[in-house]
Amino acid sequence: MVAKILDGKQIAKDYRAGLQEQVETLKSQGYTPKLSVILVGNDGASQSYVNAKKKAAEKIGMISEIVHLDESTSEEEVLNELNRLNEDDSVSGILVQVPLPEQVSEQKVLESINPDKDVDGFHPINIGKLYIDEQTFVPCTPLGIMEILNHADMDIEGKDAVILGRSHIVGQPVSKLLLQKNASVTILHSKTKDMHQHLKNAYIIVSAVGRPGLVTKDDVKEGAVVVDVGNTPDENGKLKGDVEYEDVKEIAGAITPVPGGVGPMTITMVLNNTLIAEKMRRGIK
Ligand code: NAP
Repeated sequence: MVAKILDGKQIAKDYRAGLQEQVETLKSQGYTPKLSVILVGNDGASQSYVNAKKKAAEKIGMISEIVHLDESTSEEEVLNELNRLNEDDSVSGILVQVPLPEQVSEQKVLESINPDKDVDGFHPINIGKLYIDEQTFVPCTPLGIMEILNHADMDIEGKDAVILGRSHIVGQPVSKLLLQKNASVTILHSKTKDMHQHLKNAYIIVSAVGRPGLVTKDDVKEGAVVVDVGNTPDENGKLKGDVEYEDVKEIAGAITPVPGGVGPMTITMVLNNTLIAEKMRRGIK
């Protein structure tokens, strides 16, 4: 069996076209969604992430701004900037790029974002709502993963899903979204004893660890759907997933490449959530 390639770039392109239409409709009603991103310091990777988000937002007709603060900015100054954006009626959604410099508490900052503008879905109120199945902002990578799974031509209900990694931004929220779709979910982590045994039973595998070569073809059941979230640069700066892609694609039913799989969908879901934030505050369905 040769796997269907779940082409995140194409899925993202199609999805963004749909978002662009909705942005145009909103603009015709007098509302333009605006995404504001706070960046503190000069980390190269962070700068390219925020630039990519800004460019993607502008491409579909949104307004986007980067509030770039100096590396030495105090926590109080970051919070003041955040409060300004919280209160600014022209701003629909706010992201704070992490990591933050050590003098600024990430937790304190994330908890200070207005939950109604929290398009990353990291505010404790939004995390709590996700876990009690209330409508809320869901973190963007897990949302993107679910959209990719929609293209895998399979019914999630009743299937065994195994998630590698239990972070708050990927592993745990995606497990919740799969549970909402009635999958039977197992989460593996660094202390898991028999990883292979769990993986071999899985019909859906989502790997979010950051260890190239972790998932081999011997771990994967014939026909399984494999989503690789791993994103680790090698010595030449080339991004590597967790899954041995060339081998695993020979037996999986569907698989995401790295790059070009989950990555483009994460940014797409930032745009999606910004659109939702604008619609919510304008009372538009
Ligand atoms: P993280 O916070 O470092 O979490 C990694 C998880 O992997 C932890 O739960 C850890 O277990 C687990 N783990 C470590 N070694 C393991 C092993 N040998 N077997 C099973 N589990 C193991 O990472 P993250 O933020 O979730 O990101 C994970 C990967 O996804 C990274 O490569 C990141 O770059 C990538 N990522 C990609 C996107 C995208 O848009 N493409 C977005 C977000 C993240 P413990 O909890 O026991 O330590």
